[in-house]
Amino acid sequence: MCKQSEIDRVFINIAKNYSEFSKCVSFQVGCIIVDSKDRIVASGCNGSPKKLKNCCDQFPDYQSKMQMLCLPYSGRDEEAILKLRTAHREWSAINEIHAETNAIAHSNRDDLVGATMYCTLQPCPACSVIIAGTGVKRVVFDNYYDHANERSEEVFREANIECIQYGKNTTIINTK
Ligand SMILES: [Zn+2]
Ligand SMILES: [Zn+2]
Repeated sequence: MCKQSEIDRVFINIAKNYSEFSKCVSFQVGCIIVDSKDRIVASGCNGSPKKLKNCCDQFPDYQSKMQMLCLPYSGRDEEAILKLRTAHREWSAINEIHAETNAIAHSNRDDLVGATMYCTLQPCPACSVIIAGTGVKRVVFDNYYDHANERSEEVFREANIECIQYGKNTTIINTK
């Protein structure tokens, strides 16, 4: 029998690997949902639904433009970078689905009751609300998300879902 911390490490690493399937040019996020017997029941990465345009096709030159960020400040076209980032943010908001929501969309509802969700990034407030409605009882994330806020934490507290950062002994929201 593995310790919980070892189980968490295995699944967080799977979520990280899975994030490579994301076709988002800005950030790749992965999510794995595991049932109470440590079986993977769903997976998701961030991106647009099948049949809709992929982020990498919408912004084919995004990554080459962002490489300017490696240049000294004087050699960059700051305006172009800002414009592209804004364009992606606006397009992404109405075309791309977050990894957590995608994983839930591709799961059987019954499998989620009592399940643990492994995310490469802290769930945003919108995903947290969706997670709260599923029966997931524990969320483990790897990195903090700068677009998450106290509402994400509050939602999990209200829904009695344990939410912890992977590898940290400090439980951010401990409902027990
Ligand atoms: Zn994107
Ligand atoms: Zn989200």
